[in-house]
Amino acid sequence: MKRSKMIQSVRDMTGKWDIIIIGGGATGLGAAVDASSRGYKTLLLEMADFAKGTSSRSTKLIHGGVRYLQQGNVSLVLESLRERGLLIKNAPHLVRNQSFLVPCYKWWEGPYYWLGLRIYDILAGELGLGPSKHLSSKKARAEVSTITPSGLRGGIMYYDGQFDDSRLAINLAKTSVKEGGVLINYMKVTDLLKSSGKVQGVKAKDMLSGEEHEIKARAVINATGVFTDSVLKMDDPGSSSIITPSQGIHIVIDKHFLPGDTAIMIPKTQDGRILFALPWHNKVMLGTTDTPVEDISSEPEAMEREIDFILKHAAEYLVGKPERSDIRSAFAGLRPLVTNGDTDNTAAISRDHSLIVAPSGLVTITGGKWTTYRKMAEDVVNRASEVAGLPSKECVTESLRIHGWIDEAAKKDPLYYYGADRPELKRIIDKDPELGEPLHERLPYVKAEVVWATRSEMAMTVEDFNSRRTRALFLDAKASEEMAPEVARLMAEEAGYDDNWIKHQVKAYSELASSYQIS
Ligand code: FAD
Repeated sequence: MKRSKMIQSVRDMTGKWDIIIIGGGATGLGAAVDASSRGYKTLLLEMADFAKGTSSRSTKLIHGGVRYLQQGNVSLVLESLRERGLLIKNAPHLVRNQSFLVPCYKWWEGPYYWLGLRIYDILAGELGLGPSKHLSSKKARAEVSTITPSGLRGGIMYYDGQFDDSRLAINLAKTSVKEGGVLINYMKVTDLLKSSGKVQGVKAKDMLSGEEHEIKARAVINATGVFTDSVLKMDDPGSSSIITPSQGIHIVIDKHFLPGDTAIMIPKTQDGRILFALPWHNKVMLGTTDTPVEDISSEPEAMEREIDFILKHAAEYLVGKPERSDIRSAFAGLRPLVTNGDTDNTAAISRDHSLIVAPSGLVTITGGKWTTYRKMAEDVVNRASEVAGLPSKECVTESLRIHGWIDEAAKKDPLYYYGADRPELKRIIDKDPELGEPLHERLPYVKAEVVWATRSEMAMTVEDFNSRRTRALFLDAKASEEMAPEVARLMAEEAGYDDNWIKHQVKAYSELASSYQIS
C-alpha cells in the first residue's frame, strides 16, 4: 500500500468514481471494503491518518453489548453478536475470545447477572464463544488473583471478543486495496462539487503537499464520525446538527494489576456505566467514561475528573489500587452519537447507526460501533448505489477474509497481529538482523516494524507508527516518546526524508505524547 501510487490513481482517473467515501475510520473503511469488493470503483479520502479519530480510541471489544441487553435493545444485541461471530471467522489474527469475570458482592448479583448472561449466550446461538458460568468465590479469585477478596460471594464468567482497533483499520484498508479500492490518508475533503443541487464529487486538499484536487463521483458517502455535521454543512449550510459527541477515556497501567488472561467487567458504576479492566498487549486497560462534550477535536484529552473516576472505581475492585503515578498512558475518544435531544445523559443515547440521504444525494452514515462496522457498510453501500443508480451488486463481506487472515494465529509470537504478513517482517529481519532489535525495553516492538509500516502500511509520520501501526503511544506514552528519534531515523532512511523532517517529526511527536502522560 503506497500513498504516491494511490494519488497517481486519482490523477489518472479520466471518468467518474462510482463511490467516494469521506472518512477513514471504522465506518468509512468498512464501506470501502464493501464497495470495492462488490466491484465499484471506490475512493476513500481521510483527512488525517486511517483511524486517527474515534476508531483507534475504543475499548477494543467486539461485543454484543451486555449494557444494551440491560437497556432492552435486543435487536442491537442480536445484530452485534452475529457480527462478532462473522468477524472472528474473517479476522482471526486480530480478534480473539476474551473471558470476563463479573464479580458479585451482593446476594442478588449472582443469579441476576447469570440469568442476563445466559440470555446473552442464547442470543449468540451457534456464534457463541462459550457458555457463561457461575464461579464460587474461590474459583473467581483463582481466575483473577487481584480481585478485592473482602465480601466477594463469587462471580459470573462470560466470553466476548477483543481486538486491536487500529490494526483492524489498517487491515481493512489493505483488504479494500486488494479488491481494487484506492485509499488516501492525509487528504481532506474541503467542499462538495455540486451541479443542479446534486452532489457530483468532492474538492480535496493533500495535507502533506498542499495540492488541491477536484474529484468526480456518482455517489458520495459521508462517514466522518463526530465530524459528520461539518460535511452536512458543506452540503447545506443551514442544516441542523445531528451529532451529540460523548467522550470516553481509558487509562493504561502495568500488567501486575491484573496478571492473568481474564478481564473484569463491573456492570454498574455511579453514572450507570460499565467499567472494564482488560488485559491488552501485556498491559491493563481501564475504562471508560461517558462525558458529554461540546468541542470536537481529533485529539481529545482525558479530563482530570474522568481519570479520578476510573481510578476511584478501579481501586474498589483491584487489590493493587492503581494511582495516578501508575498510569502509563491516558487516551480519549469521542462517540459520534446521533442526537436524541438529551445532551446531558449521553449514556442513554442509542448505539444504533443512522443513515440519512440528503436531497442532494449525499449519503451520511453515523453512530453505531466498531462491532457493527460491516453491517453499517453493507447498509450504506446498498443505499448509495441505489441513490446514484449504480448497477446493483451483491454484498460479499459476510465471508470475505480480512487482509492478514491466517488459519491459526500464533498468538505467542510478538508479531502475531501481522497475520499472513508476519513472514514478510521476518524476511526484513533476516536480511538485516539489526532490525530485529527492540525499539524500547518497555515495549514489544522491533525496528523492522518501522520499515514495514513505512513501506507497506502507509505510515507517513512518527505518530502514525507509534499510535496506530503499533500501539506504543497507548501502552506507554513516555517510552513511545523516548523511541521517537529512532523511529523517525528509520522512517527517513526507508522513505528518503531529510534531517529537517526528522527534527520536525520528533518535536511534534514529543508534544503529542506529553498529552497522554499524567503527572
Ligand atoms: P471515526 O473513527 O472518528 O472516523 C471518522 C474519520 O473521518 C476520522 O478519521 C476523521 O479524521 C475523518 N474526517 C473527518 N472529516 C473529514 C474530511 N473533511 N475529509 C476527510 N476525512 C475526514 N465500539 C465497539 O464496537 N466496541 C468498543 O469496545 C467500543 N468502545 C468505545 C469506547 C469509546 C471511548 C468510544 C469513544 C467509542 C467506542 N466504540 C466501541 C465505538 C466505536 O469506536 C465507534 O463507533 C467507531 O470507531 C466510529 O467510527 P467512525 O468511522 O464512524 O468515526
